[in-house]
Amino acid sequence: MARVALVTGGMGGLGEAICIKMAALGYQVVTTYSPGNTRAAEWLSSMEQHGFKFRAYPCDVAEFASAQECIDTITNEIGPVDVLVNNAGITRDMTFKKMDKTNWDAVIRTNLDSVFNMTKPVCDGMTERGWGRIVNISSVNGQKGAFGQTNYSAAKAGMHGFTKALALEVARKGVTVNTISPGYIGTKMVMAIPTEVLESKIIPQIPMGRLGKPEEVAGLVAYLASDEAAFLTGANIAINGGQHMY
Ligand code: NDP
Repeated sequence: MARVALVTGGMGGLGEAICIKMAALGYQVVTTYSPGNTRAAEWLSSMEQHGFKFRAYPCDVAEFASAQECIDTITNEIGPVDVLVNNAGITRDMTFKKMDKTNWDAVIRTNLDSVFNMTKPVCDGMTERGWGRIVNISSVNGQKGAFGQTNYSAAKAGMHGFTKALALEVARKGVTVNTISPGYIGTKMVMAIPTEVLESKIIPQIPMGRLGKPEEVAGLVAYLASDEAAFLTGANIAINGGQHMY
């Protein structure tokens, strides 16, 4: 039986690449989309035209009840989740001076609470079965901070605190928990930045002189999910073209 890989936010730039990579490796790939997303059917059919048969379920990752219901449905209809990739995330950038509680809460709930919400319903099953992989998609800006991102930097840094603590708790149960911290990746979100800003401000910060590719992050997720990565846990792996090292 193929292992079940659940990728949250699979219809976004990075999530799609992760879904494709995991499917190519033979996982049964399941993804989630926001309950208000009207593009889900179109995305699924376009993926199917490219040869990828994904399952997708509505889930507000910021809401525990929604996450629990989604995982219950996946478990009943497909099987228990073996690999969880906490990828869904949002930004609401503004300086701290301008930031209100709504924009703070939205980012913390979607990027950080979501990690609890999605992991809680799958973790006990993984430890009972003696095998599981949890991969949390954080950001270089959680490692180094970023102007206008107190909310996002806090949430993304918090993800790795969660990773380290849970990694300790499940280390002897065949379950690994790791964080990936991408730098600038050429997703639609980043490609929407004006070329002039990309070329004058962003690319010069990256020693490799280019944006990362979603497929490069997907390859790292695939490795962390593999049997070969069984001894790798509690790590925060930077994938940023040399932009930030520590
Ligand atoms: P996108 O905006 O393209 O995708 C984000 C995904 O998250 C969407 O599929 C969206 O689903 C989903 N999502 C957002 N809110 C919710 C919610 N409440 N419930 C369920 N799903 C939700 O972003 P990227 O692909 O670029 O980023 C993916 C992850 O990688 C994020 O966590 C981001 O912070 C991180 N990252 C990205 C970098 C980059 O350069 N692109 C760099 C560093 C980190 P829907 O469309 O259905 O709302």
